Amino acid sequence: MIKHTHMNLKSILILALMLGVLQLYSQENYKSVSKEDSTKVYTNPAKYEVKTFPQKFKAKKPKNVIMMIGDGMGTTQVFAGLTANGGHLFLDNFKQVGFSKTQSSNGYITDSAAGGTALSTGQKTYNGAIGVNTDTVAIKTVLEMAEGKGLATGLVSTSAITHATPASYIAHQGSRGSYEDIAADFLKTDIDVFIGGGYKHFAQRKDKRDLTSELKQKGYQVLRNMDEIAQVKSGKLAGLTADEHNDIFSKREMSLPLATQTALNILDQNKNGFFIMIEGSQIDWGGHQNHVGYIVGEMLDFDQTIGKALEFAAKDGETLIIVTADHETGGMALVGGDMKAGKVKGAFPTGDHTAVMVPVFAYGPGAENFTGIMENTDIPKKIMSLLGL
Ligand code: MG
Ligand code: ZN
Repeated sequence: MIKHTHMNLKSILILALMLGVLQLYSQENYKSVSKEDSTKVYTNPAKYEVKTFPQKFKAKKPKNVIMMIGDGMGTTQVFAGLTANGGHLFLDNFKQVGFSKTQSSNGYITDSAAGGTALSTGQKTYNGAIGVNTDTVAIKTVLEMAEGKGLATGLVSTSAITHATPASYIAHQGSRGSYEDIAADFLKTDIDVFIGGGYKHFAQRKDKRDLTSELKQKGYQVLRNMDEIAQVKSGKLAGLTADEHNDIFSKREMSLPLATQTALNILDQNKNGFFIMIEGSQIDWGGHQNHVGYIVGEMLDFDQTIGKALEFAAKDGETLIIVTADHETGGMALVGGDMKAGKVKGAFPTGDHTAVMVPVFAYGPGAENFTGIMENTDIPKKIMSLLGL
């Protein structure tokens, strides 16, 4: 009888232990993902050296402004890039840091058109608007104002040059999808240099106009090949490097760092100074795809472009660089990583843009104006004031 009870007690104990293990297992179950998704993990194959640039500048106010927009680049995208590059980015050189609130006139969450227009004009507008206000009336952009004051101007982008972000600086259209009208708006300006995709919106149009020959008549060198573009030292330049968008970072012939260097050297010849907007467009597209490798690769390409801008600005001493985003994309979180290995693991609650404020980094004379929490519209207003536009 006693033995029997003992046996029972033993089986009860074993049963309890097994139940405990099962219980533990089920408690941890929520953390396990069915399969490791390769698009959520990325190890950077090629880290680059990050240089340190001086923090003393010749002038108190900038003569030149380099505006750099990482489309969809929130703080997580920046930190993912930093981790993948072993703990450092060229962005480390930016000692003045703030945050920008990205809400549009009709959306808690902005799109790149309203975001771009806010950054180019200083006015909040509706999602989809390109350089127009809420009544679809054209608003002068900082680029157009700079041109009006005799400064040289430029646009460089890894998307089509007619896409929302660059378009917001030069075109005035009620809808971001009006690519051919946006391309035609380039001809209404005297922009000195633009490099990006979008050839077909200039050359293969419903209205049969060939804007590439119109550009040539206006004195532009119209080039499609990156090697040829990089050879240009002066004059007006229209670099149309893809029919539509340039390829993903790992495949594209167009080089954002090289295009930026080329543009800066040309624009620098104007004695009155220059304004240029340079966009790392596809950080956003990696975000929409919830693809960590795409995001990180584009982030590092953009950061190396920032390195080229820093090289120029540090030497020049009268150049202000602003790096910011139009919005964040994907609500990206970092749920794992290894700085030494250059490895990051991401997670995403959405495939769309999010409402969160985005970082603002400033380097050069006037950089101290870009700290704290600001509206996205404050950024161009500060630039206009610093350039006396
Ligand atoms: Mg964009
Ligand atoms: Zn987007």
